[in-house]
Amino acid sequence: MARRLPVALTLAALALTLGACQAAHASTDSAWHPALTQPGNDQPSSAPPVSHAPSRAPSHPAAPSPAQSELPDGPPASAPAAPSAGHGPAGSLTTTGSSAVALTFDDGPDGYSMAVLDLLAEYHIKATFCIIGRQVAAHPDVIRRIVADGHSLCNHTWDHDLMLQKRSAAQITAEMQRTNDAIHAVAPGAPIRYFRAPGGGFSPQIVQIAAGMGMKSLYWQVDPQDWRKPGPQAIINNVIGHTRPGSVVLMHDGGGDRSGTVTALRTILPNFAGRFTLIALP
Ligand SMILES: [Zn+2]
Repeated sequence: MARRLPVALTLAALALTLGACQAAHASTDSAWHPALTQPGNDQPSSAPPVSHAPSRAPSHPAAPSPAQSELPDGPPASAPAAPSAGHGPAGSLTTTGSSAVALTFDDGPDGYSMAVLDLLAEYHIKATFCIIGRQVAAHPDVIRRIVADGHSLCNHTWDHDLMLQKRSAAQITAEMQRTNDAIHAVAPGAPIRYFRAPGGGFSPQIVQIAAGMGMKSLYWQVDPQDWRKPGPQAIINNVIGHTRPGSVVLMHDGGGDRSGTVTALRTILPNFAGRFTLIALP
């Protein structure tokens, strides 16, 4: 009888430990509890195992608190992170490099550009405009307002040459330089830090030439194909359905009748304003 008592105590302590672990994982496993409660409470030998638990407790809250106090400083520091090599054709960018979303509008300046700018202003949203050089002289007011409103500029070639990949280095350079010159003729000194090849037709050579002129090559992640005029609801569904933190979204303010895009923006912009941080590309 006397020899069995220590064994029973050991088993009881073991059962207590196992029971506590089990309880944490599965509360339905109540079969353990009746067996250990009766001997566990009455025996003083159950004290040593318990003493370990309180000794650890104070060290845990002490460690995380200094780390947590540094967290509020984290997000602002990482926000303006510049995008580098992307996942689009020839390494072009498809995302912003942060959690922010970038709306981009191609093929302007044109007749619908002001309507797009009005809506962006209404919802306090910044965006990026990819400019066709030969259209600038007819719409200098659009270029100046893009700059004045705090949006970013992107070079989209002089005449939207869809065969840009086939051109010589000299021709590609001329397409880019002529467009930047046209923009700077109406908005002197305006930064143009991005280039988008017509149709997204990037090649390593195009990306390299653009980089040599200080422009990052910009592709996209979300493309509602609004230029096909699928109707506002299709544009809304595509853009809202596919955009996630970091997305570069492609839409068009020029190149034809963009009334469907403008109508879609009346739904997309307030929706995004509540869900994302929207940026003009840095
Ligand atoms: Zn285009």
